[in-house]
Amino acid sequence: MIKTICYLGLGTMGSGMAANLLKAGYKLTVWNRNAEKCEAFARNGARVADTPADAVRDVDLVMYSLSDDKAVEEVVFGAKGILSGIKEGQIAVDMSTVLPATSLREQEAYAKQRADFLDAPVFGSKNESANAKLWIMAAGNKAIFEKVKPVLEHLGQTVHYLGKNGNAAAMKLVGNLIVALELEALAEGLVLAQKAGLDLNTVMEVVKVADFRSPLLVSNGQNILKRDFAPSFALKLMLKDADLIEKFAESLQSPIPALRVVEKNLASAVALGFGNENASALIKALEKPAGVEVKARRVRRSTETEQNH
Ligand code: NAP
Repeated sequence: MIKTICYLGLGTMGSGMAANLLKAGYKLTVWNRNAEKCEAFARNGARVADTPADAVRDVDLVMYSLSDDKAVEEVVFGAKGILSGIKEGQIAVDMSTVLPATSLREQEAYAKQRADFLDAPVFGSKNESANAKLWIMAAGNKAIFEKVKPVLEHLGQTVHYLGKNGNAAAMKLVGNLIVALELEALAEGLVLAQKAGLDLNTVMEVVKVADFRSPLLVSNGQNILKRDFAPSFALKLMLKDADLIEKFAESLQSPIPALRVVEKNLASAVALGFGNENASALIKALEKPAGVEVKARRVRRSTETEQNH
């Protein structure tokens, strides 16, 4: 049974998950590149490690949520990285959104140390992470998955087993392809509605109930109308994911014509300086050439929970 865990990467997603592990009663060690983010966890009883190699010392399970493939490269494979400290019998779980090929490289490297590995990326955003309501996918050895599942159940509302290593990372990119296209559809639709002189609150009332409704469209649409672009899933991370989807789809010769358009708009919005805003700030790349700002005339109180992806 897993009793001791270390969590590396205390960003938007990792901080919520690590806090929920503490709440669930696990003995927790934390590490973050910027050590300030560890302070709140130390006050709540976590051990703060100096390096990733130090963090993995004496724990049953190593979990991490890092920005991108480059961060995984540094934290896992780098000097004083996880691989230089992990030992036989320990399990590592990568919850970051990375290329399936990166997950496979991680699995091979851990196997050389006789350690086990699951790729376990998540859907949901800041609120779902903080409230243990993530939608989690995991892939790798089934017996190892069964061992880790009770831990994942403290972090999410669903946990799906996807099969062999790399499959959960692939599922994450499939889902984010859909998310990217939904955000683009929402942005194009709202700009058109604004240009057509429609009442945008009524537009969102229809979006909320019609047969194309989705929580993602509702929460992002309502926030756009309030001009609230506080990041729960940063635009620059959506662009990073679009790049991963492109590479992954190209490797399988799977067509992604619409994703290529969204990627261009995401890059424009980042170039305009909105990379640290929420992914819904993608709309700003369309507002500029359209000469409009999409904004509700009268803001209604929202009862929706924020849901990004
Ligand atoms: P974030 O808030 O930007 O946090 C990123 C984390 O990675 C921070 O702990 C950061 O450390 C660390 N990091 C970045 N580069 C590093 C490096 N070179 N070396 C060591 N640590 C490094 O990102 P997030 O929103 O939590 O996302 C984390 C992962 O989950 C990403 O792969 C993202 O695509 C995925 N994801 C995000 C969401 C979402 O809604 N936010 C949803 C699902 C999946 P510092 O604090 O020192 O910068």
